[in-house]
Amino acid sequence: MPRTVPLGQPTVGEPELAAVAEVFASGWLSGAGPTCLAFEREFAVAVGVEHALTTANCGSALHLALQVLGAGPGDEVIVGDYTFPATGHAVVWTGATPVFADIRPDIWSADPAAVEAAITPRTVGILAVDVFGQPADYDELRAIADRHGLWLVEDAACAAGATYRGRPAGSLADLAAFSFHGRKGITAGEGGALVGDRADLMDHARKLHTYGIAPAVTREGETTLPVPSFDEAGYNYRLSDVQAGIMRAQLRRLPDLLAARTHAAEAYAAGLGDLDALTLPVALADRTHPWQSYVITLDPALDRGRVAVALREQGVGCNFGTYASHVQPVYGVATERGCPVSADLFDRHLAIPMHANLTDDDLHHVIDTVRSVVGSAAARRR
Ligand SMILES: *Cc1c(COP(=O)(O)O)cnc(C)c1O
Repeated sequence: MPRTVPLGQPTVGEPELAAVAEVFASGWLSGAGPTCLAFEREFAVAVGVEHALTTANCGSALHLALQVLGAGPGDEVIVGDYTFPATGHAVVWTGATPVFADIRPDIWSADPAAVEAAITPRTVGILAVDVFGQPADYDELRAIADRHGLWLVEDAACAAGATYRGRPAGSLADLAAFSFHGRKGITAGEGGALVGDRADLMDHARKLHTYGIAPAVTREGETTLPVPSFDEAGYNYRLSDVQAGIMRAQLRRLPDLLAARTHAAEAYAAGLGDLDALTLPVALADRTHPWQSYVITLDPALDRGRVAVALREQGVGCNFGTYASHVQPVYGVATERGCPVSADLFDRHLAIPMHANLTDDDLHHVIDTVRSVVGSAAARRR
């Protein structure tokens, strides 16, 4: 059986199983319960914000963020183009229109100049993406937002543990959304969180995330019989307390997980940095990269499909990077505005294995295989 190095893999085991056992013993398994509240306090401290709200996933956290900020039909929201389309979808769910801004060629988050150029009288806010976890240009984006009276939201789906100019990802905008999906740096399989400092917005989001009433935990221990009434049609966007238990264990591991990913990124930089056939990802000095994915950019002369097939045949997991949003048919008329940098990288990006379980043997196998595949004539476009 030849060695196979998976593209991504969660790091879970005894601490998470113990946490699940504790939640089982508590008897409270459903969402927004005591374990969610405990994780929310811990996560808010880790992210450096006043409030955290656990959610079913990052998409629901983004939807809540946009809704409590008031986005709706007739509004435009400027979105960094290169992202998993949950970002654009969340805008669509509110009835507003996503307007995609092209990205920086080095770190792939929204180019502040493209964001400013996309502003119209209908623009209400900016939704920036920390691409593969590396924070976007929040000082510049904040200045643009302030100049034009816009709000700023951070899609921090991949960014747990990252920093920007000394500040944690999640604290860099009015509201931020995280994902705890299995491919992210810390995970409960599925899950998410909305974070921010403004109590009014976060209280409204908490109400909307449990169908439009205060969560049941707030009525626990009541001696009277309070009966809530519904004045808003909210959703069930709750994380379960079982998942929250897993997340408490994952959050405690975060420094070790980040160190393992950083070690892998350093090994790739040392082992692949001399190759002309590819460009390595850039980690800027004023921010820390949590390496949710490790994405190389192939030279235009290489055929990405052939490279991917050859890597997979030799046991190296790989995939395209993420998506150019503006070419996705779902966004219709929004695709008229081109984002050439994003479109080009969408064609040339290749993610190679990145997770916290990679051994030095795994890393050597990936490096040796990538070197031989991109150097072979068979990988070139015909
Ligand atoms: C993964 C991801 C999402 C979606 O996260 P879910 O938890 O699956 O909703 C959104 N935005 C970005 C940038 C992502 O990488």
